[in-house]
Amino acid sequence: MEIRVLPLPQEKMKAKFSDESQLGFGKLFTDRMFIAEWKVGQGWVDARIEPYAPFSLDPACLVLHYAQEIFEGLKAYKWQDGSIALFRPEMNARRFNHSADRMCMPEVPEDLFLKGIEELVRLESDWIPTSAGTSLYIRPTMIAVEPVLGVKPSDHYYFYVILSPVGAYYASGFNPVKIMVEDRYVRAVPGGTGEAKTGGNYASSLKAGLEAKKKGFDQVLWLDGIERRYIEEVGAMNMFFAYGNTIVTAPLEGTILNGVTRNSVVTLASELGFKVEERKVEIDTIMADIGSGKITEAFGSGTAAVISSVGALCYKDQTLSIGNGGVGTLTQKFYDTLTGIQTGHISDKFGWVRKL
Ligand SMILES: *Cc1c(COP(=O)(O)O)cnc(C)c1O
Repeated sequence: MEIRVLPLPQEKMKAKFSDESQLGFGKLFTDRMFIAEWKVGQGWVDARIEPYAPFSLDPACLVLHYAQEIFEGLKAYKWQDGSIALFRPEMNARRFNHSADRMCMPEVPEDLFLKGIEELVRLESDWIPTSAGTSLYIRPTMIAVEPVLGVKPSDHYYFYVILSPVGAYYASGFNPVKIMVEDRYVRAVPGGTGEAKTGGNYASSLKAGLEAKKKGFDQVLWLDGIERRYIEEVGAMNMFFAYGNTIVTAPLEGTILNGVTRNSVVTLASELGFKVEERKVEIDTIMADIGSGKITEAFGSGTAAVISSVGALCYKDQTLSIGNGGVGTLTQKFYDTLTGIQTGHISDKFGWVRKL
């Protein structure tokens, strides 16, 4: 499909950031956005790149009432030689369509998904920050815009992509986070929407997150929704526990997100000489193994932070430090290797990098 590029009037151009250390995450957006519309009987139409601007939405439209919405998150990096790289965007395209299927939304052809992102990033490449740890965060989104109050799949959708220059996640160094294991609220149940990247999952997680913050924790670790016994994942990260050179993570059984970073860690692990076990683990076992020192490190994986070291875990008011509470060698190795591949400092054996 042809993508039209609409003019960007001078007065709509925003001031670029002057201090990359002040970027933060997802607060500033670039000058343009990509959008395509899907209409029943027509399919995808009118793909275009236009000035970034608010939408005018009918107050009755379906997304605002019944949350028919999906999204993705990935990053573009500017390498030292000035070239631009995306990290495994085909996986995001596939996952987006997996989410779309679960939410009864139309499939976005993979080449439209990729071409929309690539043309937009190319046009906005001046917005990609270059200092260590920074990147351009890419947020593909689809919303249901038919104005009707009946509960049904929409007959009209917007698929759009916005871009946000983001700062180094660990501005003050690679700090371990403290995580609270949630044993009252649940995130997902078998047969539910846990494997879809859909807005409602995050709205319903806010309460647990706030309560954890109040107690001094950064995020929550969800347990399975039936028995509240097996570990699942963290807010927007998959979770790994290291027993020496063996790493254990929850299996993909429909209730957790199939993370691109998770998949990359699993693939890298054998390359780096580690063993991976994707299996159900009870939280009681995790706590006992942290206590006895069998668990030597823990980390989360997700696009925003790439790898996040977990320094402490709290379950039923018992807080335990993991390892020495600092960043473990294996955690650091995964972080360095993945970010090295993403930024072109380590050669990409796996064909993960997609250059623009
Ligand atoms: C996005 C997300 C992840 C991480 O996925 P990546 O593809 O690695 O960024 C993990 N869990 C949840 C719930 C998420 O939304």
